[in-house]
Amino acid sequence: MLDLLLQNGLICDGTGTSPFVGDVSIRDGKIVEIAPHITEEARETVDVSGLVIAPAFIDMHSHSDAWFMEDDRCQAKLYQGVATEVVGQCGSSPFPRSVSQASRIRREAEAGKLSAMGAYQAGTFAKLLRLKGDRKMSTNLVQFIGHNAVRNGVVGPLARPAWDDEIKISRFLLGQAIEQGVWGMSLGLGYVPGLFADKAELASLMEMCYIDDIMVSVHMRNECERVFESLEEMIDLAKLTKVRLHISHLKLGAKEVWGKAEELYNRIRQANAEGARITADLYPYNACSTGLSSRLPDWALDGGGARCAKRLEREPEFRAQVLEYLRPRYPEKEDGDRLYIVGTGGRCPDIDGKTVGQLSEEWNLPVPEAIVETLIRTGCDDDSIITNMDEKDVLWLLGRNDLAIGSDASCRPFDPAASDGKPHPRTFGTFPRFLRLCREHDLCPVETAVRRITQLPASIVGLNDRGVLKPGMVADVTVFNKDTITDTATFDEPFQKPVGVEHVIMNGVFALKNGEQTEERLGDYLLKPYL
Ligand SMILES: [Zn+2]
Repeated sequence: MLDLLLQNGLICDGTGTSPFVGDVSIRDGKIVEIAPHITEEARETVDVSGLVIAPAFIDMHSHSDAWFMEDDRCQAKLYQGVATEVVGQCGSSPFPRSVSQASRIRREAEAGKLSAMGAYQAGTFAKLLRLKGDRKMSTNLVQFIGHNAVRNGVVGPLARPAWDDEIKISRFLLGQAIEQGVWGMSLGLGYVPGLFADKAELASLMEMCYIDDIMVSVHMRNECERVFESLEEMIDLAKLTKVRLHISHLKLGAKEVWGKAEELYNRIRQANAEGARITADLYPYNACSTGLSSRLPDWALDGGGARCAKRLEREPEFRAQVLEYLRPRYPEKEDGDRLYIVGTGGRCPDIDGKTVGQLSEEWNLPVPEAIVETLIRTGCDDDSIITNMDEKDVLWLLGRNDLAIGSDASCRPFDPAASDGKPHPRTFGTFPRFLRLCREHDLCPVETAVRRITQLPASIVGLNDRGVLKPGMVADVTVFNKDTITDTATFDEPFQKPVGVEHVIMNGVFALKNGEQTEERLGDYLLKPYL
C-alpha cells in the first residue's frame, strides 16, 4: 500500500529532461515510482491534471537563519514552493556569537524588538541545535558558517588583517562547525568585518574548506563599479585553494558597469575552463537589499557602523570626506529615490518606509547630506532597498541556464506586524517570479527552469537525497501551475501570497495543500555527514 499517489501531472523531474504526463508514488517519505500510469493502491490519491509535479524548490541563498524559532510556519518560503533553504549566507550566521552581535541583541531587547536572529545567537552550531531541541519548522535548513560571525568574535570590527594567531583560532572555529554538520562557509566581503580580511586570511580558511570538502559562498567585496575587480579576487582565491566557490546574488550594481552582464558571466566561464570550480546564483529583481552604509567607502567603516555614525556626527573633517565621496555618486533627487529605507529596528519610526529622496525634501538637504543625516540618526544600522541594477542585465543573467536562483531573504510570515517596515518583495515572490519571467520572456523551458531551482542547487551544495524525482529520493515535491504561477509581492505591498503553487509535500506529507499551509511542521536541519 502506497502512502500517496499523485496522478496525471506533468512530471519535471529536476534533471531538465523533457517532461511527460504521469504519476508519482510515495511511501515512507520516499519516492517509490515515477511512471505514465501507476496502479498500486494508495492511502491517498490526488489528481493533479494540468499541473507540474516537480521536486520541492531549493532556495540557494536564504537569510532565514533562526527565524523559525520565532515563527515555525516559514510562510514566505513555503508558499513559494520552497522546502529547503541554504542559510548562514553573506558571512552571517547565528554562531559563533560575537561581542558586537551581543550589543545589538541588547539594544533590540531594550527596544522590545528582539529579532529571531538576535535572540538565538549561539556559541556553536551544536549549541544552536540543542537550543532548537525537538521542535520542527516548515522548511529544511542547510547551514553555512559565516566568516563575519567568526571574525567578529576573533578580530572584532577592526580595519586590519588578522594576526597569525587569530587565523589559527578562526580555523579552529571553522573546523568545529564542519564537524558539527555545516555544508559550507560564507564570506561577506562587502560588510564589516569581512571587508577587512586580506588574502592570507581568506586563503587559509578557504583551503581548509577544500580539505574538508565543504564549499564557500561569497557576497563579493564590491558588486557595483568594482565588480570585475572583486570577481578577479575570488577567481584568484578559487584557483589558489581549489575550493568549490559559489558567488551569491550575482549582479552589476552600478551605472558604470550596466550592460556588461555577458562579460561578467563569460569571465566566470573562462575561469572554470582554466580549472576553477565556480557557480553562482541571482534573484530576479533589479533592486538589492542591504544597509545604507553599504553606500560608503571601506575606509569610512573602520571600527564598524556605530563608530562611523558617531564620527559623521562629531568629526567635521571625516564628514566632509564622506560627503566628497558621495556627491558625484548621488547628485540628483532621483538618485536618492533609489535608496529606500525599509526599517531601522524601531529606532527611527520617522525614517522607516521612506526614500532618501523623500527625506532630503523633508529635511531640505541635498541627497548626499540626507544620506549622512540618515546614517547618523540610525547609527548606520538599517535595512534598505537600493535600485542599482539594469533590468536588461538581470534578464540576460536569468537566461543563463547554469545560474541558480536564491531569494536572499528570510522566511517571514505574511502578517506585516511581524516585520519591521517593508521587506524586499523577493522575500515572498522570488521563485514564482522566476518561473513567470521564464515563461513571459521565453528564457528557458519549464523543465529547465525547474532544474535551476531543484537539482542545480542540490548538486552545488552536495545534497544527494533531494532535488530530483527518482525512486529512493526523499519525497519533497512541489506541484504548481506553470501557466499561472506568478509573484504578487511588490515594493509597496510585499506581504502577498504568490499565485499558482498548489501543493508542497515534504517527506511524503502535505506541508501546503490546495494553496494553504497545513498544520504539519516537517522541516529540520539537514546536517552534512562528517567523514
Ligand atoms: Zn549578500
